[in-house]
Amino acid sequence: MFRKIGIIAITLLSVATFAQKKQEVPRPKLVVGLVIDQMRWDYLYRYYSKFENGGFKRLLNDGYSLNNVTINYVPTVTAIGHTSIYTGSVPSIHGIAGNDWMDKLSGKNTYCTADETVQPVGTTDNKVGKHSPRNLWSTTVTDQLRLATNFQSKVIGVSLKDRASILPAGHNPTGAFWFDDTSGNFVTSSYYMQDLPQWIKEFNNQKIPEKLVANGWNTLLPINEYTESSPDNSPWEGLLGSAKTPTFPYNNLAQDYQKKKGEIRYTPFGNTLTLQLAQASVLGEKLGQDEITDFLAINIASTDYGGHKFGPNAIEVEDIYLRLDKDLASFFKFLDDKVGKNKYTVFLSADHGGAHSVGFLEEHKIPTGFFEEDMKKMMNTKLKEKFGVESIVNSAQNYQIYFDRKVLADNNLELDKVKEFAISELNKNQDYLYIVDADEVEEATIPKLIKERIINGLNRTRSGDIQIITKDNFLPTYAKTGTSHSVWNSYDAHIPLIFMGWGIQKGESNREYHMTDISPTICSLLKIQFPSGNIGNPIVEVIGK
Ligand SMILES: [Zn+2]
Repeated sequence: MFRKIGIIAITLLSVATFAQKKQEVPRPKLVVGLVIDQMRWDYLYRYYSKFENGGFKRLLNDGYSLNNVTINYVPTVTAIGHTSIYTGSVPSIHGIAGNDWMDKLSGKNTYCTADETVQPVGTTDNKVGKHSPRNLWSTTVTDQLRLATNFQSKVIGVSLKDRASILPAGHNPTGAFWFDDTSGNFVTSSYYMQDLPQWIKEFNNQKIPEKLVANGWNTLLPINEYTESSPDNSPWEGLLGSAKTPTFPYNNLAQDYQKKKGEIRYTPFGNTLTLQLAQASVLGEKLGQDEITDFLAINIASTDYGGHKFGPNAIEVEDIYLRLDKDLASFFKFLDDKVGKNKYTVFLSADHGGAHSVGFLEEHKIPTGFFEEDMKKMMNTKLKEKFGVESIVNSAQNYQIYFDRKVLADNNLELDKVKEFAISELNKNQDYLYIVDADEVEEATIPKLIKERIINGLNRTRSGDIQIITKDNFLPTYAKTGTSHSVWNSYDAHIPLIFMGWGIQKGESNREYHMTDISPTICSLLKIQFPSGNIGNPIVEVIGK
């Protein structure tokens, strides 16, 4: 009897081993998605002479770089960027219409990954932990890999930001982890698991963030070598933590971190921390260790936090990129050692770019300005004068105006009449180029390129009733220092895209491609089905014909 069971066990074991080894479709062992938050395409060349050989230059020299990749929708913000990269789709289809949006049917404001039905895991903070991908309607390339391998592939998402970890990892990953400002730990939610994996607990126990900020933040190179950036003390830079001026060295960083752990987000150490977590996940989950392809989705977020605070021309931002370059070099070396050179495929891109600071542009005589930010209040005052009803606008966000369906119904107001009046009022403002009726974008007399990006970006139930296109380089007043992003213009919509490693040709191209071409390219490389809402095409130059 026991012998019989033994034989059956051995047979099953050998079948299992055989099944594991038998893989007829050639694929890389690991795919690594590196999305650098707020990285403008031109940074690759702006800082080129300062980069070392193993990071950005290794990607450019050994990989295939696309020089003309644009984001084919507005608004160009983080949640949508990550979602569109990983779904090959756009907000009108995949449903992620902003970092936040107003649900037109319920009148409820929604954060992209907020989910009241789940519990925090690894933190007691509900705001930090109650997140999931439930608001995402399409599948991701990571979902498709899991489906294609009958869920044998492992998929991990890591980021400082909840949304930039959750949305790329898709609906059914091995795990998605993000940073908790209240504890300094990486956490997740009960959507994925009931308890943190042992390797994350060990990572958290090492208190790596504290060590990274212990010596403050000074420039990597002597400060006079930062000739690509403006003087260190420029008036359009924001202040970090308790610093009195926007200048190096930031000696209070360790104390500032003790008071507010989120301060690490604005420094290059947030990126170092994320890449160290990525490495720990490769070891902890044994990513790329067998014949079944795994996927590691990484968001590098401090480039965005730093950009928002200091502005693209600040030495701080240059330093963040120079240090990221070094971190990427050691990360690639780690992958060479653990997974094997040319056994993995990497792509690097960005979720959006960023405008130059208004103050910086003014200083250099380039047209710029601030536009009216409190549009909701302004519109509601005008609408009340005209229709005698309060609070007709229930939200103004993502450069869109939303009318409150309930207020309209309760007061027998016709949406079209209200909209027509609002558009005529907005047209009086010279800071806006176009005011577009969301229901009549196709008929609008605006350039085709902008029209297409508006149509792709407008979600029927989650986007506003009016879309506003501002003049170039106009920012909202909350970006008095540093910068922001959201618009169709080159500075926000022109992103880097480089592939490297297994199955990737060497070279570069100036042909036009879109953010939505990234996922179908990876799917074609892996010979797996495109994501459900995909509208992109594989970039054949990159993966061969
Ligand atoms: Zn941002």
